[in-house]
Amino acid sequence: MNMNFTDQARDIFIVGLRNAHAMENQALSIMKPQASRIESYPQVLERLQRHIAETEGQIQRLDTILQGMGESSSAFKDTAQSFMGSMAAMGHTVAGDEIIKNSLANFAFENYEIAAYTSLMTLAEAGGFAEAESLLRQNLDEERAMARWLEDNLPAVTLQYVDLRAAGANAKV
Ligand code: MG
Ligand code: FE
Repeated sequence: MNMNFTDQARDIFIVGLRNAHAMENQALSIMKPQASRIESYPQVLERLQRHIAETEGQIQRLDTILQGMGESSSAFKDTAQSFMGSMAAMGHTVAGDEIIKNSLANFAFENYEIAAYTSLMTLAEAGGFAEAESLLRQNLDEERAMARWLEDNLPAVTLQYVDLRAAGANAKV
């Protein structure tokens, strides 16, 4: 069996869309426990809550694309990866520098998402899926904005953690 370029791009695109769907559910299972624990960093909490809402919209866009391609999303795989995501988020709760570790991990995760959507947009363009491309562009723009926010705010969050420690605040998140 010898598929042409367009058929190969379509197959690779669909696998990538399913992986992105799982990635976004993993993102929710990382961000939601983080948001529920934050007490001392209201600006981080506010931005996380906004990105949780954005992420729910991203999942809907991926569902729309998958349905448009005649595919349904894979619930089983998502569940497995969501579990891994909550374990990764919980790993940081025992250490005092939870806010710092989470900030670094979130920045890494957002950049992974940027890479995923850049690759997916390339496949959408190669396969001629214009509507998918514009929906993926919206997800990509939100990831870029979140990554930029995390990077821009990392110095302030880091110094706030030092201040809280210096004030004897028992290293609350
Ligand atoms: Mg996302
Ligand atoms: Fe994201």
